[in-house]
Parts: sequence; structure tokens; C-alpha cells
Amino acid sequence: MRLARVIAVLLGSGLALLIAAVAISAHAASPYGQDDRYASNGGYARQPLPPYQYTDHAQPASSGRTVTLYIDGDFPAAQRQAIVGAMREWNYVLNGYVQFRAHLLPHDTSSAEIARLRRSGAWIVARVDSRHPIAQQGEGAHALAVTVGNGHDGFVYVIGDRIGGRDLTGVVMHEFGHVLGAGHDHAGLMAPVYSAAAARCIDRDAAAMVASSQRVPLQRLNWCEPTGYDPRDQPRAASNAYR
Ligand SMILES: [Zn+2]
Repeated sequence: MRLARVIAVLLGSGLALLIAAVAISAHAASPYGQDDRYASNGGYARQPLPPYQYTDHAQPASSGRTVTLYIDGDFPAAQRQAIVGAMREWNYVLNGYVQFRAHLLPHDTSSAEIARLRRSGAWIVARVDSRHPIAQQGEGAHALAVTVGNGHDGFVYVIGDRIGGRDLTGVVMHEFGHVLGAGHDHAGLMAPVYSAAAARCIDRDAAAMVASSQRVPLQRLNWCEPTGYDPRDQPRAASNAYR
């Protein structure tokens, strides 16, 4: 009972703040303008710069499973919006087969409460800096962000003082790919080294790895692809545009 009450309190406060954040982002100036062409089913994808665009495949008949995120209340509002943006872009790609839902995690949440949330299947998006142990060992030593999980629950650590001027939405879209079960790829969003060009949108190879991991049909998901992409082309033709 106590656990249920704690979660209900977190959900209540988190939802209100996130709704405010989303409402603000909808009115913010964006290099992509006000085009809501890619809004559907709780998802919203930024319009990628030409020559890329998102597919717009039919909606599934039923709703899929939910992946619950708790976003650290220590993120400044702009970074929280960037994380929500990454979540909504994946929701657009996932097309209802899987859906992220985000709540705000109050900054004074105890470790016992975080452990309980994780047992319930939640992922914690935590803001740390480069002094944090996760940022000093192994592949975390030079990372912008690190995802540690077991396929059911885990942590996405954003190493705030390493992000600099990079697009946090793109960085977090890569990490959410890991949350959804994708590994690393030789190019594109899931390449192990960040590049602004590859992180501009969720490409077909990233969507394909997640479709495989989540056991959902790739052809019913969305992804970004070069304008004029011909599905009869070699599958790797799209990837060659990435460096
Ligand atoms: Zn990675």
C-alpha cells in the first residue's frame, strides 16, 4: 500500500510538470518550424533537415507495452524538454507497438524509492557529472551518456558536463535505443561515437534493431530515410550517407 501511494504521488507531480514542459516545447522556436506532420499516437518527431524525412506508416490496431521512464528532477527545464523530445521521437517511430511514458523524479527521492521503482520495471534517466563513478570507468570514461540495465529496468546516466553544445535529444535518442534493446551499429544513430549528422533522427537500421529486440514488425514502425529513398535499393544504400 505504501509503495502504491509513493508511486501515485510521483506520478501526480511528474505528470503536471511534464505536461507543462511539453506545452512549452510546442511553442518554442525550432529550426524545423511548427510542422506537426510527424505527430501521431503520442509520438512527435522533429522534421529532420533535408534530405531526410520520416516515414508515416499506418497505425497499429491495438496498444503495445509501455516502458516507464523517471526523469531526474535535477535536469534544467531545457534539458528535460530535450529528453522528452527524444522520448516522443521514439514513440513516433515505435508507432504504438511500444510506448515510452515519462514522469518526473523529485530530486530528493530516496535510493530505497528508486530501487522500488526499478523493481516495478522503470528506467531512471539520471543527471550526473564527470566525477560520478559511472563516468570514470570502462566505456563511461569518455562517454556523453551511459545506459546500464538488464532489459527490464535500469539507468540512463547523462553526463551533463560533457554534453557541451551537442544536441541532447540526439544523445538521448541513442541511449533510448539501448533501453529498447539495440546494440551498437557501424553507422547511424546507434554508432558508438556521437555525430550530429547521425543523431539527427532515428534511422531504419536503429528501428530494425529495436524491432528485432522487441519482436515487433519493422514494416509497421517508422524511421527516417533520405528523401526519394527507393526500398528496392540495397539495404545499405541509406547507411552510406552517414560518416
Ligand atoms: Zn551506445
